[in-house]
Amino acid sequence: MSAIGFIGLGVMGAPMARHLLKAGHDVTGFDVSTPAVEAFAADGGRPAASVADAVRSADVVITMLPNHPQVEEVAAQVLPALPPDTLFVDMSSIRPETSVRLAAEGAATGVRVLDAPVSGGQTGAQQATLSIMVGGDEATFAAARPLLEVLGTPRHVGGAGAGQVVKAANQLVVAGIYALVSEAIVLLEGSNVGAKAGLDVLAGGLAASRILDLKRESMLAREFTPGFRIDLHHKDMAIALDAARNADVALPVTGLVAQLVAAARALGHGSLDHSALLKVTETLSGR
Ligand code: NAD
Repeated sequence: MSAIGFIGLGVMGAPMARHLLKAGHDVTGFDVSTPAVEAFAADGGRPAASVADAVRSADVVITMLPNHPQVEEVAAQVLPALPPDTLFVDMSSIRPETSVRLAAEGAATGVRVLDAPVSGGQTGAQQATLSIMVGGDEATFAAARPLLEVLGTPRHVGGAGAGQVVKAANQLVVAGIYALVSEAIVLLEGSNVGAKAGLDVLAGGLAASRILDLKRESMLAREFTPGFRIDLHHKDMAIALDAARNADVALPVTGLVAQLVAAARALGHGSLDHSALLKVTETLSGR
């Protein structure tokens, strides 16, 4: 059993922390949102009043926060205070250079740091079927693996920051598929061809994807409750394009799709699910 300080009990963090509790770990949870902490306590978790309170007796700290400024703020409080050998596992999706810097800061005091972002969405978090891409040294991965297996399938993909680069690749593929499924829907509906039957056919052929499987019905019903917010995907597209610049590679399709995601925000859809890219495609077609 591990003593875990879990910071960030949002759409993803709340079900993840609950799975760790159910697996028998001693989990103390903190979030700046009081209702999130109260909901965690109602499920049998230990509530914390601050970040410091959450990590006081932890041998593992897990963060699941929106973006790098929040991770940096928490890490600045936590890393200098943790005893050597403590695991610090950041599961947020953030820019790789922050993960690299946190790993170096941890190494200076003996804290073992991993970047371990996830894919699989809210359903994956609820069902503990997340795909977890882990950057950091192999021995640290081996130490964290049993805990990560409670949440899904962890894979070690390289050194510090590598998990975030894989996550950026994942996010550009996901946004691209949403953009194209949206175009398929607009084409089918605009041609007065049954969109439901059309997408069912696509889902059974070479165009099949998890997104078509899981989201085609809600997209056709214009049901855009998040899930994963457009605002967060906008952040991830910026991470992917920054990573491309750092790697000196060109990602022209990602650049275009990033502009569609930016348009979704500009049109006021930032707090909707990322499948609301369909609304941008409709707007472009005057529908
Ligand atoms: P969320 O906004 O629902 O949750 C983040 C939580 O962090 C919120 O409850 C917020 O109150 C809390 N928080 C913010 N700043 C804090 C601080 N300084 N200290 C403590 N708590 C703080 O976001 P989410 O959807 O759970 O996403 C979390 C991360 O996981 C993001 O990086 C996101 O890109 C990534 N992600 C999300 C999904 C998804 O489907 N939602 C899927 C994969 C990855």
